[in-house]
Amino acid sequence: MKQIVVLSGKGGTGKTTIAAALAHLASREMSIVLADADVDAANLELVLAPEVQESQDFVGGQVAVINPQTCIACGVCAEVCRFGAVVREENGYRVDRIPCEGCAACFYQCPANAISMENSVDGRWFQSRTRFGLLFHAHLIAARENSGKLVSLVKQRARLAALEDHSDLLIVDGPPGIGCPVIAAATGADLALLITEPTISGAHDLARILALTEHFRIQALVCINKADINPRRAKEVAHFCTERGVPLAGCLPYDMVVTEAMVHGVPVSEYTDGPVTQELIRIWQQVKDHVLVRSAETLSNGYIP
Ligand code: SF4
Ligand code: SF4
Repeated sequence: MKQIVVLSGKGGTGKTTIAAALAHLASREMSIVLADADVDAANLELVLAPEVQESQDFVGGQVAVINPQTCIACGVCAEVCRFGAVVREENGYRVDRIPCEGCAACFYQCPANAISMENSVDGRWFQSRTRFGLLFHAHLIAARENSGKLVSLVKQRARLAALEDHSDLLIVDGPPGIGCPVIAAATGADLALLITEPTISGAHDLARILALTEHFRIQALVCINKADINPRRAKEVAHFCTERGVPLAGCLPYDMVVTEAMVHGVPVSEYTDGPVTQELIRIWQQVKDHVLVRSAETLSNGYIP
C-alpha cells in the first residue's frame, strides 16, 4: 500500500479540488482509502458525499474544572495559572476552558481539593463510505487545539483500514501551511503533491513546503493551479522547480467549471472532460508513475529502502 499526500504552503490553492479529482481518477484503476487531514476545515466531504458508518469523540487533552461547592475562593489557582485561564467572578472562581492548557498546576495547588481534571472533547472523527472508497475525516471544535493529534488519529485509522483491506493507495488531503498538523499529515507519505499558484506568495509558500518535504525526505511533485492567470510567474515557478530538481507534474488552467463542479458536489474530473480534467489525468499519470511504477522498479532491482 502506497501513501500520497496533497499539500500546499497556504490555504485556498485548490488542494481539496485536486485531491478529490485524484480520488476519482485513482479509484477507476485501483482500490483506495481517503483521509481528510484538514481537520480545521474538512472540505473533502463536500464533494464526496460521504455516508457516515462510524463516529467517535476526539479527546484532545484535559481541562481543569472548579467545584463551586468546595471552593473556598482563596485565589491560589488564579495565581499559579500561567495561561490566565482562571477567571474571578462575583461568587468565586471559574476556569475558562479555551485558554486552559490542562497543565494541572491549579489541581495540585488547590488547598480545598476543589479542582478536578476532566477529559476535553475537542472534536469528532468519522469513518464514512464514499463511491470511491472509505473516507476518514474529522471536525475539530472551533478554538480547540491539538489538531496535530487529531490529524494523526485520522491518518492512523485510514492507514489501518487500507492495510486491512489490502488497498493499493491511501490519499491524504493535508492541511495548509507548514505547522504541526501538516507534519502529521505528511509523515510516512511515499509522495507529496505540492499545489501552488503563480503569485509571489505562491512561490514563497512553495519554497517553505518544499523545505518541509525535503527535511522529511518525502519525494515531491509540483502542480501549478490557475497557471494561465500569470504565465510569467508560472514560468518562474517552473524554473524554480527545475533548479531544485523537483518534477512539475502539471499546470492546471483557470476554469469556472471547477467552481461549477464544487457547487454540484462532485470532483471536477467527474463533472467534465474538458481541459482541466485532461490535465488532471496527466497529473494522476505522473503521480502513479512516481509512486507506484518507479518504486516497483526500484524494488525489482533489489534495492531495499
Ligand atoms: S485554589 Fe481551589 S479553593 Fe482556591 S480559589 Fe481555586 S479552586 Fe477555589
Ligand atoms: S490546568 Fe493549568 S492552564 Fe488550566 S486552569 Fe489549571 S493551571 Fe491554568
